[in-house]
Amino acid sequence: MAKNLHCWRCKTLIPMLDEREWALMSPALSKTIEDIQAYRRKTGASLSECPPQTSACHLYARLTGFVETNPNAIWHHRAADCGPFCRHCRRPLRTARASFCAGCGTPVERESAEDEAASASWSVEHGVDARVFGASHHQVLAAVSQAIGPLIAQTHDAGDPHTYLCADAHVSVVTLEGAQIGVSVYRSGRWARSADFGRFLAQTLACRVYCDGGDEAPTVSDGYKLLEIEGGQERWVMQVPKSEAQA
Ligand SMILES: [Zn+2]
Ligand SMILES: [Zn+2]
Repeated sequence: MAKNLHCWRCKTLIPMLDEREWALMSPALSKTIEDIQAYRRKTGASLSECPPQTSACHLYARLTGFVETNPNAIWHHRAADCGPFCRHCRRPLRTARASFCAGCGTPVERESAEDEAASASWSVEHGVDARVFGASHHQVLAAVSQAIGPLIAQTHDAGDPHTYLCADAHVSVVTLEGAQIGVSVYRSGRWARSADFGRFLAQTLACRVYCDGGDEAPTVSDGYKLLEIEGGQERWVMQVPKSEAQA
């Protein structure tokens, strides 16, 4: 499942695709380029005269619940391309080898070998993620805060998407299509796996939650399955279908 991370190019929180999602997205993005080239060869049109190519955008919306109208932006919405979190502002460093945070200017301290485990916890790959139907941004935040402690809003994300800090942990909340709320919690020991986090949210908020099932997830040839949790029931589903997002 996509992780909610600050994109320095878009200057806001964006769902960034995990590697399983990228495996689906990458061919769709390549096809976008091929389709534009084929159209231009056939018609002699300039780049700006080509009709918008939206199949990658539709796939992105289906995978993440986030409506993106520019397929070019999706190229940089891949979680694996982000560096670890800046220890000061909690935005991802622009690359894994960055020597300072371009967001706030804080220099990056390289961990000694003994600190490798602590260092790994700053990777954006760690953390738990869920998408919630039937609860507000505020309700999701209140439930998480109740579990991990008071949260203080960071101000670098304008508008609704927000990062919140709490002692060691930080939380990213994005409002998605169909009044879904995407929520990621990083560096908190409270939930070991996204499935634990999803169960907590579904029970506390009495709502429907989608999350990664980790190793338990059945593998399928044309994608992967998410864990759907609602009313104490759990089942494996393909990525959230559009009709559900609009329900
Ligand atoms: Zn971006
Ligand atoms: Zn920073």
